Amino acid sequence: MKKVRKLYEGKAKIVYETENQNCLIVEYKDEATAFNGAKKGKITGKGVINNRVTNHLMQILEKENISTHFIKEISEREAVVKNVKIIPLEVIIRNISAGSFSKRYGVKEGIIFDSPTIEFSYKNDNLGDPLINEYHALALNIASQDEIDRIKNMAFKINDILKSYFKRVEVDLVDFKLEFGKTLAGEIILADEISPDTCRFWDSKTHKKLDKDRFRQDLGNVEEAYAEMMSRIIKN
Ligand code: UDP
Repeated sequence: MKKVRKLYEGKAKIVYETENQNCLIVEYKDEATAFNGAKKGKITGKGVINNRVTNHLMQILEKENISTHFIKEISEREAVVKNVKIIPLEVIIRNISAGSFSKRYGVKEGIIFDSPTIEFSYKNDNLGDPLINEYHALALNIASQDEIDRIKNMAFKINDILKSYFKRVEVDLVDFKLEFGKTLAGEIILADEISPDTCRFWDSKTHKKLDKDRFRQDLGNVEEAYAEMMSRIIKN
């Protein structure tokens, strides 16, 4: 599979068209941003790690009957994925309080919820990805009720699968962001990435942060944390 034309360049990835209109190539970059692009930097080796980690997790999900856009890893930083229309929703699942949840509701980090929460943001950089509810998503014609229901079911199922997987590698899955896409046939499938850029991972024993919060909060040892996550995941 060969790259034909750059379709889109985002903050952490470049997406290319290929000779096959059903397939795209995603290339993961080392560039890192936080706070809606206000903080910029580079995490050396991140692109390689996020490619590998995402592809590994997508394959685990496929085995558990979750349809994903993943087709094949073709290099250290590149994967072939299905060409889908991305639904402009950031779907966030939380198991433990952290980040904007703690800030918004004035609670400390680390409260384990009795059951996971779900929230949606409207994916729109100019607006700063505003938080929306299902009714807003319907009003904005982002998705139909049936699609929203399917997305919610898939997101909670993905959480169950990933939570028990990460438990085995002694990592608490605190929260994460998912994006879904629609195939030409109208099927909703999991797209984008699942990586230390898009999840909060805490070591189960030490509670050490092993994700992008090390970059966001200038905690140091950012590259080491990403590498630690990759080595735990690739071995399992
Ligand atoms: N997240 C993401 N992209 C975004 C916003 C959030 O991948 O544009 C992920 C983030 O890494 C975390 C989860 O979604 O794992 C919840 O993020 P939160 O709402 O707490 O926002 P943040 O604190 O990152 O601003």
